[in-house]
Amino acid sequence: MSDTSQTSSWSYASAPENTDHIVLKEQYDLFINGEFIKPDSKKYFKSINPATGEVIASISEANKKDVDLAVASARKAFTSWSKIEPKERAKYIFRIARMIQERAKEFAIIESIDGGKPIRESRDVDIPLAASHFFYYAGWADKLEYAFPNKNPKPLGVAGQIIPWNFPLLMAAWKIAPAIACGNTVVLKPAETTSLTALKLAEVIQESGLPKGVVNIVTGAGKTGSEIVNHPDLDKIAFTGSTQVGKLIQNSIVGTQKKSTLELGGKGANIIFEDAAIDQAVEGIINAIFFNQGHVCCAGSRLFVQESVAEIVIDKLKDRMSSLIVGDPLDKNTDIGAINSKEQLDTINKYIKVGREEGGEIYQPTCNLPSNGNWCPPTLFLNVSQSHTIVQEEIFGPVLAIQTFRTIDEVIEKANNTPFGLSAGVWTEKGAKIFKLTQELNAGVVWANTYNKFDSTSPFGGYKESGFGREGGLHGLIAYLNVE
Ligand code: NAP
Ligand code: MG
Repeated sequence: MSDTSQTSSWSYASAPENTDHIVLKEQYDLFINGEFIKPDSKKYFKSINPATGEVIASISEANKKDVDLAVASARKAFTSWSKIEPKERAKYIFRIARMIQERAKEFAIIESIDGGKPIRESRDVDIPLAASHFFYYAGWADKLEYAFPNKNPKPLGVAGQIIPWNFPLLMAAWKIAPAIACGNTVVLKPAETTSLTALKLAEVIQESGLPKGVVNIVTGAGKTGSEIVNHPDLDKIAFTGSTQVGKLIQNSIVGTQKKSTLELGGKGANIIFEDAAIDQAVEGIINAIFFNQGHVCCAGSRLFVQESVAEIVIDKLKDRMSSLIVGDPLDKNTDIGAINSKEQLDTINKYIKVGREEGGEIYQPTCNLPSNGNWCPPTLFLNVSQSHTIVQEEIFGPVLAIQTFRTIDEVIEKANNTPFGLSAGVWTEKGAKIFKLTQELNAGVVWANTYNKFDSTSPFGGYKESGFGREGGLHGLIAYLNVE
């Protein structure tokens, strides 16, 4: 079929977001006990703009002493924070939510500069959802007795929280909001490549007047993360990241009193039945795998199309892929931004190579990729089966593996044939099929005739190697409470 490249057919005038009002410091310190303090390590690392390769700012690398200080400050703050009137706790959290809303534009731009995601997504998804999470859990702070009647809910204590780079502010909100609403205090570590919005959040928290030490933010790489995990004075470890690091964490806390929730990787099945509304389903496939460059734990990275409609779906999909705009994350027209880091781009390219070597048939539309920065065009593979590496392993990039099926039982078996169990999507106009699949797919979230929809009131989490525990909704409170 013909390839309508983005340059030859639809060309849009560029619509870059104005960054004049963004104020970033050259160097960021650690946020401990309500103050920004220099790291004991005296070491700083660079945060890079993945779309240009330019250095944005220097970020502190916290060592063991810094983590000790952060945990001690959280422990001290816990005594009073856990005892203040719950409605007072709520006031601070509502204030943080409103301040995120007021500064939404600033947060969105920084998120896109630091992480590479299209401004449309940081503006319309990441930042509003982060504010919503604080609003939602602020509302629960003084109603825990009603959420868990006769169970005497009590906070756990001090939580160590470690988050990944794909939704930096949103993951910080998912971790901090329920924890502090329940009366816990926290030490949070953002990912090395995307610390900036967490540090901006620290500024908001400082301005909000939240009592000192309730939220501490320490930056650094995996080593800093393991100092948190192994700290003896923590009551809980909440981790979102890869299954590989999740397993390491689980091994290190076994035999301790620490509670844990692990939100890990995924390889979501997106299933298109022949009776689905095909054009909507094609949009759904695009959103499922190319949203946030495919850096999404619940991405619909395995597509299953019923054989009778496979040809038309794949033709329409290729056509739609050729109109996706890949490029400057700050341009409001951009659909696919920059790959978050050089390392992640290497990982994605390695999987694309393996996909070809194992006999997969690749399709990538022609894209004018910028010369600097980390880029990957939207990619699909045909002619793959269950045993292919790119069907089994999480790629965490804009790469889709397509298979066909004939019967509902066949697709359930194929969809469940994975070590992961985080998400799935089903496209059909038959309610009965939706109910059957939601019951039989081993996935924490199953979307019907939509994909990648998130809401703070709705629990999110996995089965099997996708981890355990839920974030969001009423379930998200349980992760931070002792209930009798
Ligand atoms: P990652 O390498 O596991 O890193 C996650 C976080 O852990 C980062 O802050 C990282 O620090 C830190 N870390 C690395 N090694 C550590 C160690 N030994 N001990 C303690 N902390 C350590 O994952 P990622 O590449 O950032 O994120 C992608 C993964 O996250 C994917 O697998 C994705 O599916 C998963 N994810 C899951 C969910 C979910 O809700 N289930 C949501 C989003 C992402 P550095 O960044 O400094 O290395
Ligand atoms: Mg960066």
